[in-house]
Amino acid sequence: MSKDTYSDLRRGPSVGESDLAPPPKEIIAYELHGNCYLNLTWRCTLRCSFCPKFKNIWTVQGYDLRLHHEPEPEDILDAVGDPPRYREIVFCGLGEPTMRLGVLMEVAGTLKRQNANIRINTDGLANLLYGKDITPRFKGLIDTVSISMNVQNRKLYEQYCRPGLPDAWPAMLDFINKVKTQVPHVIITAIEGLPDVDIQECRDIASKLGVEFRIRHLDVVG
Ligand code: SF4
Repeated sequence: MSKDTYSDLRRGPSVGESDLAPPPKEIIAYELHGNCYLNLTWRCTLRCSFCPKFKNIWTVQGYDLRLHHEPEPEDILDAVGDPPRYREIVFCGLGEPTMRLGVLMEVAGTLKRQNANIRINTDGLANLLYGKDITPRFKGLIDTVSISMNVQNRKLYEQYCRPGLPDAWPAMLDFINKVKTQVPHVIITAIEGLPDVDIQECRDIASKLGVEFRIRHLDVVG
């Protein structure tokens, strides 16, 4: 992969600007199931074939998550309001939150000082993206990391998730091994309903890695 392509992944949107007509009011934080979800970016290191945003669907549980700019830490903290109100504060998207690692860490630090319980939902490719192990930065700040493994092997991962970086599958598995030494709770998820995805094999991978496993359902967002 060329350096330019890496730069593009780290800088630019992975969907066309024309898809990003601003909604009436941008939603940076939204509440679901007693949790507060944070919408940091639309950018991704993957282009999952099942992703709703590639069908121009940006609505999650009634919240329109289109952004026309990426929020700054103060915008995000203002949008959260009172952190103790929530069971968890979840860095999510409709994009990959670790693509804004500096902002994520700054916001997480402020929230943790207010005793928030913090989760990151991620594709687990941050170490590959940044070319180093970033998981020690999570220690003491992040309570849970949930990694979207999605499928049970590299072939299906490349078929469905269409990574923009080479060797993404082994890098994601390595990320799981590293992050579980830094945070108390690690979950990997897979998608039930995608053809050829074997949920039992996914569960077995989680068991071998010594992390929790959860099922997500195809076409159910949120
Ligand atoms: S990682 Fe999530 S937001 Fe990004 S393309 Fe895949 S499904 Fe969409």
